Amino acid sequence: MKQDILINTNSAETRVAILEDGRVEEVYVERQSNLGLVGNIYLGKVVRVLPGMQSAFIEIGLERTAFLHVADMVVAAHSPSASQVSTGNTLPPIETILFDGQTVLVQVIKDPIGTKGARLSTKISIAGRLLVHLPKEQGIGVTQKVEDDEERWALKNRLIDLLGTNKNNAQGGYIIRTAACDSPIDEWQNDINYLNCAWKNIQQLAQKHPAPYLIHKDLSLAQRVLRDMVTTDTASVVTDDAQTLAELQEFAEQYTPSVTGKLMLAPIERPLFDAYKVEEEINLALQLRVDLKSGGYLVIEATEAMTTIDVNTGSYVSGRNFADTILKTNLEAAREIVHQLRLRNLGGMIILDFIDMSNPTHAESVMDTLRKEFARDRTRTAVYPFSPLGLIEVTRKRTRESLAQLLCEPCPMCSGRGVIKTTRTICYEILREIRREACQFNATAFRVVAHPDVVDMLLDEVAPHLAAVSSQIAKPISLQTQNMFFQEQYDIILM
Ligand SMILES: [Zn+2]
Repeated sequence: MKQDILINTNSAETRVAILEDGRVEEVYVERQSNLGLVGNIYLGKVVRVLPGMQSAFIEIGLERTAFLHVADMVVAAHSPSASQVSTGNTLPPIETILFDGQTVLVQVIKDPIGTKGARLSTKISIAGRLLVHLPKEQGIGVTQKVEDDEERWALKNRLIDLLGTNKNNAQGGYIIRTAACDSPIDEWQNDINYLNCAWKNIQQLAQKHPAPYLIHKDLSLAQRVLRDMVTTDTASVVTDDAQTLAELQEFAEQYTPSVTGKLMLAPIERPLFDAYKVEEEINLALQLRVDLKSGGYLVIEATEAMTTIDVNTGSYVSGRNFADTILKTNLEAAREIVHQLRLRNLGGMIILDFIDMSNPTHAESVMDTLRKEFARDRTRTAVYPFSPLGLIEVTRKRTRESLAQLLCEPCPMCSGRGVIKTTRTICYEILREIRREACQFNATAFRVVAHPDVVDMLLDEVAPHLAAVSSQIAKPISLQTQNMFFQEQYDIILM
């Protein structure tokens, strides 16, 4: 399998497409508007120590000075009186640890909001893919998502062994993330190497630059792609932005040297995502229906509880090739289902409803195709055999937001229900509303303002009922179209 990675960047967002044998299989999007400052590491300068609040204002180069509380400080390493506070949880007074004008290495733990500056910590943490490095602390933690005690110990011991084998490995604390559980040992080592390298850089930069200075940012999507997704199968990493290319080259030289030769700039004649049909695939991945070459189609519905995928034959099939036609459609559907699940990044419980097959060998080959296709999926999946009702259940680990969650919002027309009330339903609703208001208010006349389709029906098929209401309440009712309204929207004016 040949893999190519496309990176499309502009000032607003970065989009990454992973192509396998020329076809888009995964899409990642990172928007500037969603990125905060949390995780950024700065060399800050103490502006003012506030003993009364046990806090200090720190200048980190933002509009407002940031805030550091003594509880968010690593005390032992800094405090001249550390030996006196080694017992108990009592913190030393902040005025004994910090002084005005002092430079400190700090990390943002809370974004600035309104008039409040960012909240800082001196407990630095650097996130890798599998591990988090806490250079100023000690001990190894395991994510609470690993519930089995024995597994936690096994993971801890594995890391202790790894750290022990190489004197160059940075000491300090580590946290083992969920992604680490399934990963082979060489990936752990890669992550440790990356974290060591990052921490060394941070320390060097802190010595080179005067405060305030931004020293470290969490990796951008494009950088994470280089670190996490480039494999020996990767033929090229193509970007359409010269500045991004330069940044990636610098990053690759430092952290992932094997990638440097694969980085290239896309020709400018055509937008990168158009040239490789990525835009087209993204738009398809937001549709309910996906057409198959064999004439059938899929209907993919993602709800909060689960995703259901229904396989349909397109046109009427009959004759002696009936079973073969169905098998052909189901096999194509199986491949397309895995493709769509990856592209849409749908996770959780997934129910597949293939076209019924009476031949057990045919059913088995659909199962085989599913398993084979899922084997290429980076995300962990499990496929369960046909249920008594002929359904296949799949679980796919939820990782990040699905493509639709990233790019879409509930439809304001139908409030996400996927259907809207019929014109007739709206007409009847309006009639009930007029009766109600006639009882409640003493108006001389009523005017209905509604979508043109609704007004049309009130003038035509529903006209007798409208007349009946009018005579019942003994008030005239006039109609007015409003093109800006959507179908369900209307207003009743009391004259
Ligand atoms: Zn809608």
